[in-house]
Amino acid sequence: MRKKSRWLRVAIAAAVMSSMMVLAACGETGGESQAGEGKLKITTTTGMIADAAREVGGEHVEVTGLMGPGVDPHLYKASQGDIKKLEQADLILYNGLHLEGKMSDILINIGKSKPVAQVTKDIPESELLMVPYGDSQEADPHVWFDVAKWIRVTDTIRNTLIEADPDHTEDYNQQADAYITELEALHEEVSKSIASIPEASRVLVTAHDAFGYFGQAYNIEVLGLQGISTSAEYGANDVSELRDFLVDNKIKAVFVESSISPKAMEAIVAGAEEKGHAVSIGGQLYSDAMGQEGTEEGTYIGMVKHNTKTIVEALK
Ligand SMILES: [Zn+2]
Repeated sequence: MRKKSRWLRVAIAAAVMSSMMVLAACGETGGESQAGEGKLKITTTTGMIADAAREVGGEHVEVTGLMGPGVDPHLYKASQGDIKKLEQADLILYNGLHLEGKMSDILINIGKSKPVAQVTKDIPESELLMVPYGDSQEADPHVWFDVAKWIRVTDTIRNTLIEADPDHTEDYNQQADAYITELEALHEEVSKSIASIPEASRVLVTAHDAFGYFGQAYNIEVLGLQGISTSAEYGANDVSELRDFLVDNKIKAVFVESSISPKAMEAIVAGAEEKGHAVSIGGQLYSDAMGQEGTEEGTYIGMVKHNTKTIVEALK
């Protein structure tokens, strides 16, 4: 059973605009894309989306991801350089569901003059996890941690590229199919690995609630100190509740995230130790950003594999 709601901050700062669908002028095929040596210039927000766009687009696209390793998308503000990269793109891909909270206005604005696509738009509402958001509920944006949902996102990216650049339809279809085959294997692999953790130990404690879909898809309970967005504050109460949960349930390990300061989790580990229960930091997970470019963790598949391995080794 999931107990995460105890830890969710009810008052997530409502600083973001309501969710956007495709804002785009979809008719603009070709046109500008002819300028950059014939390649379709794509700018994405997160690295995960950039990776999928490269896999599907192959040699026909030139992809720039704005948010590099260690970057927290919830708090990210576009720099002047980023705005330039958005302006120069033929197509912009973003996650949506409030993930890029501070960039909403810019994306809406740019969507008036070129195609801007929300890659999560085809995930049916019934498959989104709803989480408390102020007085109402909002969808959890961290869909990439259920690989099956990321397959759907990959399909959306395929359709978006075909719409923007129909001349290369065949290649986009072929490359998307090949990538989706890899993702299907990954989904199986993660399922099997997580199932190998004894059920009583299958609890994933992290700094912020990025792993809700991971928990749902792979049957592991998930608790985060901070809410779905890192812009929510957490208080002394959350810290002591989480500490007591670790002590009461004899949880062996908790995890830090590459895009969030580890301080809070270190304090919780120290608190549990004071109460006579030893908890270790089980390792660093890539939650909202991938690893360094050129490393295995610098790809979506590598990041999911790294997380799964880290979780299994610490909890098994
Ligand atoms: Zn997050």
